[in-house]
Amino acid sequence: MKKIGFLGLGIMGNGMCKRLLGAGFELTVYNRTPGKAQGLIALGAKEAKSPAEAVAETDASITMLGDPASVKEVILGKGGVLEGIHLGAFHIDMTTVDPNTAKRLSNAFYQKGCHFIEAPVTGSKMAAASGELVLMTGGEEEDLDKVMPVLRPLSKKVVHMGPAGSGAFMKLVNNLSMAGAMEAFFEGMTFGRKAGLSADKILEVLNHSALASPLMKMKGEAVLKRNFETHFSLKHMAKDIRLAMTESRRLEAPLPVTSVVNDLFEMARAKGLEGLDFSALVQVVEEMAQYKP
Ligand code: NAP
Repeated sequence: MKKIGFLGLGIMGNGMCKRLLGAGFELTVYNRTPGKAQGLIALGAKEAKSPAEAVAETDASITMLGDPASVKEVILGKGGVLEGIHLGAFHIDMTTVDPNTAKRLSNAFYQKGCHFIEAPVTGSKMAAASGELVLMTGGEEEDLDKVMPVLRPLSKKVVHMGPAGSGAFMKLVNNLSMAGAMEAFFEGMTFGRKAGLSADKILEVLNHSALASPLMKMKGEAVLKRNFETHFSLKHMAKDIRLAMTESRRLEAPLPVTSVVNDLFEMARAKGLEGLDFSALVQVVEEMAQYKP
């Protein structure tokens, strides 16, 4: 497995492509908006003009796109991956999508005589660039074994969850847990600051407490510096919470805290914060508390 097609050169895709090039794979890349492949071409990648062209001569291809709609468009649409892929090739979708989309894609690839693995990721821009993502995979185990040489340079841990759809479900579990924890953290920070506590000292205590995590440290510092440069966009986190809410209704498994978190993310979107990092959610919390940092 030497030739790889990679579709979606966003925050995550760009770093992941550099890892694959560094590991010696021959890479053909595609991005909807032109111009994003320049840095990768300089490192030896070829650029394709359509998804179908990107996968035409590859052993395996990867999509790292935005949401379920974009994945369906790029894979199932006109000029899409399914039009170009050859018999017996592998496709790995690493986008965060809902379980039904993962199952639908899996069926489409197998009907075409190809193989499919879903491998959504946790870990952000920096983990993508350093090959330290955690992958939660779904699909046939023997297919996963075949694509492991491609996944290894991208990840520090791969957990196989079960059939197609189970990786997507696990990703929703991960992100609703993360969003709820971060929302409570932003509330706590704002509450303490409005009471007159020093923000530095709030972080010093929390970062040495049993609650401490790399994410809390990173997002706490970002909030203090008012640096909302995007590592993981608010738009994508809001999408993941919406997907979790849909699954909650389908399963009749209530997610009361996530439901409130969902409303707060929708308020953040209404305020035009979609393009910032999801830590910009703190601005909604601060506004509700009538606190100006
Ligand atoms: P991003 O920066 O927004 O990149 C999204 C990519 O998808 C871009 O290449 C974009 O192309 C492409 N795309 C979107 N809609 C498309 C469409 N309709 N047709 C063709 N291409 C389309 O997102 P990201 O941060 O890299 O995240 C990628 C995925 O990983 C998302 O599902 C996200 O939820 C998930 N994820 C992200 C992180 C993170 O920390 N960033 C962590 C874990 C998981 P254009 O350049 O043309 O817009």
